[in-house]
Amino acid sequence: MSSTNPNKKKKQKLRWQVKLILAIAGVIVFASVLGSLTSLFASGKKEEATAQTNQTGEEVVEEVKEALNPVMTEVKKPTVPFDKRVTVLIDPGHGGFDPGNVVDEQKESAINLAIATACAEQLKSLDPNINVLMTRNSDTISWASDEVGDLTGRVNMQTDLKADYFVSIHSNSNEDPSCTGYSFFIKKDDDTAKEMAQSISEAYEQADWAYEQAVLTTDTYPLQVISDSKIPSILIEMGYMSNPGEFAALCNPEIQEILGKVTANGIYNFLVEQNEKGAAIQKDS
Ligand SMILES: [Zn+2]
Repeated sequence: MSSTNPNKKKKQKLRWQVKLILAIAGVIVFASVLGSLTSLFASGKKEEATAQTNQTGEEVVEEVKEALNPVMTEVKKPTVPFDKRVTVLIDPGHGGFDPGNVVDEQKESAINLAIATACAEQLKSLDPNINVLMTRNSDTISWASDEVGDLTGRVNMQTDLKADYFVSIHSNSNEDPSCTGYSFFIKKDDDTAKEMAQSISEAYEQADWAYEQAVLTTDTYPLQVISDSKIPSILIEMGYMSNPGEFAALCNPEIQEILGKVTANGIYNFLVEQNEKGAAIQKDS
């Protein structure tokens, strides 16, 4: 039989209409299931985040201690020994007349000093050919007790001590207590400092320390110690004193020690790379 039968045509048309309705209904059901699943997932995430901000400082410190494993941070093995004494100037931010951020009577200057000291010790122990210096070793400062004197004092030290690299260590603060993470500040065109930031970030990642918020340039955030510097320079904001969890971690002596060591490992990996690059250039010429 041919398909010219009008009854059969009608039936076929009806079948197609039913199929179309079923397909539309199917899409609607699928979309609504997907929608509710997504909102379920989102609310779950929200609950998790809230639980984290509600954690006590001790709980956060325990978690961070567990995750921050300095052994997990691989240190590069140099194939070329450091042929000259590389000088790294570590700068614990603030100090003396300037405490920096203060939260619950805890001074940023003291937190920075503890982390920077551990960083310097680790860097020295990794290679005796690296000359590690600090802008201050205590709360006593060697420069003028005013803002201008403070910043120029730190910049002048870079030149006076013939430093090759400058690393300033700070702890951040924000009006929003949920703000977390570490960030780096470098000069806009300082590609060498960018490489150093990358290397330190990799070390933090391996150690599971917070998360990288940003690599910012002094074009947007003017910081005299970095913008007036003549050498590759970096300022690290380790985390937020305004966030209860990170504050508890940053104030904990064991975590300060680990954070310093991990930072040093990141700097060291960068120095090894720079040294090998230098050796390659020398070979070529
Ligand atoms: Zn600071």
